Amino acid sequence: MRRSLIMGNWKMNGSREDGQKLAQALADGLGDVQQEVAVCVPFVYLSDIRGVLAASPIALGAQNVADQASGAYTGEVSAAMLSEVGCKYALVGHSERRSYYGDTNESVAKRFCQALSKGVVPVLCVGETLEEREQDRTFQVVDEQLDAVIAAAGIEAFETAVIAYEPVWAIGTGKVATDEQAQEVHKYIRQRIADRNPVIAEKVQILYGGSVKPDNAKGLFAMPDIDGGLVGGASLDAKGFLQICHSV
Ligand code: 13P
Repeated sequence: MRRSLIMGNWKMNGSREDGQKLAQALADGLGDVQQEVAVCVPFVYLSDIRGVLAASPIALGAQNVADQASGAYTGEVSAAMLSEVGCKYALVGHSERRSYYGDTNESVAKRFCQALSKGVVPVLCVGETLEEREQDRTFQVVDEQLDAVIAAAGIEAFETAVIAYEPVWAIGTGKVATDEQAQEVHKYIRQRIADRNPVIAEKVQILYGGSVKPDNAKGLFAMPDIDGGLVGGASLDAKGFLQICHSV
């Protein structure tokens, strides 16, 4: 049985104080849960939030990681640095990185490998745009995004990685994928992994992201291949996020 994982992605929101208050409210309100909970916070607040979450089971994640180990890469943050400040997870290939900052399948694969090499669990984000879905290219796009990483890291890497399916058209739009639409792609992704290694396919957590809210989380999380969520906007409200965490 796969353990569920609910991950908040704060993106570039809030002040340090907002983040501390939010993290404290999550730590206070989570209670005893089976599922794992994590928050991906802006780099500059990682240490602060780590302090707030120190006594709680909530894990810490970053929203990106450099594609190089160290050196003259101004503005980048290495996997070793993330590990040092207590990050368990790092998102790689979020669609906002791909579309606004030029992350390619190849650079995403390098980021993925960097995270793994320092013991940070990469959360590989994949997903199609609305145009790609309308052209019936969803599976092709997801394949390309997955294959680039499998080619670089090997299928065994998915023993200690997470996949997040985030259809771009559902991110921040309020237009959530139906439970069935999401399940269809999750099942497909798991099958792609199973074609190479069925044992890993059974183990790998595949999260859904894109307008997850307290009122739609239960239905999504009940689908057989959806192992939790990657939550953007709704993770900024402690009460709503806790409700989502308790929807497993
Ligand atoms: P929203 O939940 O705001 O749609 O964002 C999803 C997302 O991009 C999480 O990484």
